[in-house]
Amino acid sequence: MTKLPAGVVFGAAYRDLVANCKSEKFALPAVNVVGTNSLNAVLEAAGKAQSDVIIQLSNGGARYFAGNGFPNPETAMVLGAVSAAKHTALLAEHYGICVVLHTDHANRKLLGWVDGLIAQSEAHVAACGQPLFSSHMLDLSEEPVGQNLATCRDYLTRMAKSDMSLEIELGVTGGEEDGVGSEHDDPDNPHLYTQPTDVLAAYDMLSGIGHFSVAASFGNVHGVYKPGNVRLRPEILQNSQALVQTTHSTAENPLDLVFHGGSGSDHADIEEAIRYGVFKMNIDTDTQFAFAHGVGAYVEKHPVAFQAQLDPSTGKPTKKLYDPRAWLREGEKGVVDRLQQAFEDLGSAGRSVAA
Ligand SMILES: [Zn+2]
Repeated sequence: MTKLPAGVVFGAAYRDLVANCKSEKFALPAVNVVGTNSLNAVLEAAGKAQSDVIIQLSNGGARYFAGNGFPNPETAMVLGAVSAAKHTALLAEHYGICVVLHTDHANRKLLGWVDGLIAQSEAHVAACGQPLFSSHMLDLSEEPVGQNLATCRDYLTRMAKSDMSLEIELGVTGGEEDGVGSEHDDPDNPHLYTQPTDVLAAYDMLSGIGHFSVAASFGNVHGVYKPGNVRLRPEILQNSQALVQTTHSTAENPLDLVFHGGSGSDHADIEEAIRYGVFKMNIDTDTQFAFAHGVGAYVEKHPVAFQAQLDPSTGKPTKKLYDPRAWLREGEKGVVDRLQQAFEDLGSAGRSVAA
């Protein structure tokens, strides 16, 4: 494909990026961030790997980004996401890679959050010609599919006017993500598996309106569980693609698919999912752990600095050791390292389309 300017991608550039991932058979990690430490670490990691990347915020992550003490949580959820988007827009190009900006699960109770974000993007389009986010997700997967899709159609109709894409969810991702999701963790639960006929219904309803992607459930679960507790069935993705392809005589893999709950997944399952049209794999649990592990190791190495401003055994100041830049940096380094593995697993390392 033709190269794109480094920085955040929207509209046609975003669609080209997705199409390139699918035709070249690799995927991009979508990493949840909660503040500038995690966000900068994702940019650094992507620049280091020369991979493009998807940065996303959950409702809780967005609220946290605005400050956990922000007076009004509803406002914080919107402004925190806007703050993260503007921070990324300012810095991303300097890391020499392309970045997709996205928000994670929003169920019906969180539609007000998405409404607020779309309104912010509409104002930004009017002022600067571009939205703030490349795409948003609606997760109405616990509702009847007709109701889910009708709401998705209304949102995509509005968002397409600002050249934004919509990620929808069909079938329930197991586990829970920031208060959205289910407790269906039993691998035999049929709700954990998307029905290809539902995916076809989504294609029928949405493909004429604008760009959309589908988080299809094939046994994937948020979080990391003991081996054996998760049974992935990537053939569900293949069957969904095949049904749309034959019904509408499209090219291979017409759907842009998203893999939720990517933390802790086997390499073979990831490769198979990519073969069936997955271009985005969410990763949160593993990068959270990587950040905590980095900080934890530092605290263990320098316990005195977290207890006293003068080392009792030497009398020397511990200031350099408790400076937040010292120990937060260890968390960032943990994320940067863990993401190198993600870029390798997904095949995106060295394949940035940034000019
Ligand atoms: Zn998810």
